[in-house]
Amino acid sequence: MRQVTVVGASLAGLSAVRALREQGFDGRLTVVGAEVHLPYDRPPLSKAFLAGTADRGELALLGDADDALDVDWQLGVAAVALRPSTRQVVLADGRAIPGDGVVLATGARARRLPGRDDLPERDDLPGVHVLRTLDDALALRADLRAGGSLVVVGAGFLGAEVASTAHAAGLQVTIVEAMRTPLAGPLGEQMGAACAGLHADHGVRLLTGTGVARLLGRHRVSGVELTDGTVLPADVVLVGVGAEPDVAWLADSGLDLDGGVVTDASCATSLPGVVAVGDCARSFDPVAGRHRRIEHWTHALQQPATAAATLLGASSAPYVALPYFWSEQYGRQLQFAGSREPGDVVTVVEGSTEERSFVATYERAGRLVAVLGLDAPGPFSRLRRSLRAQHAAPSRRIPAPAATGGLRP
Ligand code: FAD
Repeated sequence: MRQVTVVGASLAGLSAVRALREQGFDGRLTVVGAEVHLPYDRPPLSKAFLAGTADRGELALLGDADDALDVDWQLGVAAVALRPSTRQVVLADGRAIPGDGVVLATGARARRLPGRDDLPERDDLPGVHVLRTLDDALALRADLRAGGSLVVVGAGFLGAEVASTAHAAGLQVTIVEAMRTPLAGPLGEQMGAACAGLHADHGVRLLTGTGVARLLGRHRVSGVELTDGTVLPADVVLVGVGAEPDVAWLADSGLDLDGGVVTDASCATSLPGVVAVGDCARSFDPVAGRHRRIEHWTHALQQPATAAATLLGASSAPYVALPYFWSEQYGRQLQFAGSREPGDVVTVVEGSTEERSFVATYERAGRLVAVLGLDAPGPFSRLRRSLRAQHAAPSRRIPAPAATGGLRP
């Protein structure tokens, strides 16, 4: 393998580049990035950077040690196609980059509100934002600085963080959530409700079980009309309704695409010499026994080492890291490790949900499968260690199904 093309210049793409070099690849490395920026960190975009307490320089992911990576950065140009037989990556400006290997690391893009032809108001109205990129964050931050009222559509982690940051900046914040309980998917009903209680604690209004009928305003957003008829005045609106894998450009590549680029546990796709990592990949999880797309920072950091080994033909060890993510809201840190499923038994083992400082365990068939901590980093870390030890046990691993197993370059 003499030439590798990495598509996506963010955390997973950079981690793949570092891993390839660490694992001895000394050929040509090209990184293609749709954004004009060198790799930067996204988590602060809804937290310290949005609040104005972290500057642009603090977002940079490249350090001095990365000078030796010897990368040809092709930034500000999107890849528009992958030619499967030659593994050429075709760029929007018409160039085609040849490669013996390709790493797909195109992440995810913010989901928009569904457009309706019968309504002039759509989510591209000035004052209406999504938050995925540095440019999104700069635009949102500028609008929040003017103060006034913010309506956040979606009470997931991103929406909750923006609500918390805007509240601290003095805005009047209302959150609208279609589900009855925010965060019920990742945390379950009981813990979702406990964490969402942080909003009421700080005087932030949370409306649940109601959707958005339309956005109001002619030249700029002025309000949000809900499906129950309520009208919320708004100077700024954040649409935080999740993200979708950025894989439409691969539609004609012949790759198996199903809610992301489908890979086996070693990050191999259905095309030889092509691996996928990070938010854009739906990889086989040998512990869960199914394919899943994980949108966590630590996953995008760690998984590419497995992909690099696969590409270089050095290892067939599956990726079995324990999922982990964190969130920061109203000055408290939320941490979650493992995977929750409906029916898991949840027990608060330290602190109390009323104090918003606790650790809860999730058990399935008497076995610890996940840990949640809110404002309790010490006890959370201890339980995470126990969970990690048990997670890595070989007996927990399930072989990949025949349909996707053995897809090796
Ligand atoms: P991305 O970071 O999405 O990067 C993909 C890159 O590929 C982008 O730069 C994109 O422009 C580029 N690209 C897309 N299509 C193309 C194309 N066709 N050609 C070329 N380039 C392309 N996780 C946590 O665990 N904790 C947190 O607190 C947390 N906070 C977050 C806050 C925000 C505001 C956001 C947006 C995310 C947060 N995350 C958090 C999630 C975490 O940042 C992501 O999991 C991580 O960024 C995924 O990295 P990635 O490289 O796979 O994808």
